[in-house]
Amino acid sequence: MALKKLQDLLDEGVESRHILVRSDFNVPLNDAGEITDPGRITASLPTLKALIDGGAKVIVMAHLGRPKGEVNPKYSLKPVAEALSEELGQYVALASDVVGEDAHERANGLNDGDVLLLENVRFDPRETSKDEAERGEFADQLVALAADQGAFVSDGFGVVHRAQTSVYDVAKRLPAYAGKLVDKEVSTLENVASNPEKPYVVALGGSKVSDKLGVIEALAGKADHLIIGGGMCYTFLKAQGHDVQQSLLQEEMVDTCKDLLERYGDKIVLPVDLIAAEKFDANAANKVVDLDGIPEGWMSLDVGPETVKVFAEVLATSKTVFWNGPMGVFEMPAFAEGTRGLAQAIIDATQNNGCFSVVGGGDSAASVRTLGLDEDGFSHISTGGGASLEFLEGKELPGVSVLQA
Ligand code: AMP
Repeated sequence: MALKKLQDLLDEGVESRHILVRSDFNVPLNDAGEITDPGRITASLPTLKALIDGGAKVIVMAHLGRPKGEVNPKYSLKPVAEALSEELGQYVALASDVVGEDAHERANGLNDGDVLLLENVRFDPRETSKDEAERGEFADQLVALAADQGAFVSDGFGVVHRAQTSVYDVAKRLPAYAGKLVDKEVSTLENVASNPEKPYVVALGGSKVSDKLGVIEALAGKADHLIIGGGMCYTFLKAQGHDVQQSLLQEEMVDTCKDLLERYGDKIVLPVDLIAAEKFDANAANKVVDLDGIPEGWMSLDVGPETVKVFAEVLATSKTVFWNGPMGVFEMPAFAEGTRGLAQAIIDATQNNGCFSVVGGGDSAASVRTLGLDEDGFSHISTGGGASLEFLEGKELPGVSVLQA
């Protein structure tokens, strides 16, 4: 897919022009409101620095959390503005509104090379409205901040699968370009989608089968092996006739899993042992069990050590890997070893077997950092969970299509 790119815009010249940028700053915060994983901020820097160096007046649009169209200080981008100032080594002003008086005054007052961050775009209900006219009105107000000679750079890969105002409608109203991050993500995923070197292994985890059904259907034909762990594997195990006790289960998907096992059984790799826990608690009593050995009333919160060996064996010879979703409740140390083992096996294949490995965003990327694994051990860590999955499913991403040359 040929996209108009940031370099095209830089070649035209950005000096003294207002450039609207959509970044993905949807970072996790702790209870004290501090950023616990700045990965997405770091990923936005190359595009912002290039625009600053070109002398642009940069106006950044972003969202944080789900404020549901209302102004809510809990979801203010203030901590992001502070972190971004530090990372860029220059002051980033935060407008106190999105398209109000403060945003306008600050946008008008920008000097060449300055950066202004607008307050959370999702404070405005029109950002995510299904009504195109409502989004259009909001887009016009955002575009007005850019004055004459304005342009738009789309760099929030985590949101390109959504037809939202700051992603899609703004792009329709201004000359629009893919930022460095979106460009890199799209070209990397395109490579995996269209031309994966074989053996191609897809590893899926996370909580719900229903969320991953599309990607299983789309990738089962292409992949040589489909590793399934995490909360979703228990519905498959139940479909095979195992008693999963209180483990996460989507009862209504059992028949679907039976059907998938019938069609793709030779490719699907399921756990062979499990970590059972007395309850959903970091300090719960726990033990390694076989597939039918979960004690009555207990639940499985991770895959077991034999499973990690089986998964690692499949991965060791792989040449392409796409991984999305943790293998267990990695947030609790007692149930993090399955995810750690899988991630390490992917790193080993990347380093020792020339495998091209992609980690598909969201929780999986966070788990890599939380578990202290070497991020550079993978070929690519995507910043977009939903977006990377939808891309590999072959769905159209509105925020990418709109950037086509
Ligand atoms: P998702 O948001 O669908 O990617 O799912 C990620 C979440 O699934 C993580 O927060 C994990 O803690 C959770 N998860 C993984 N394995 C299990 C499990 N065996 N039981 C319950 N939750 C799980």
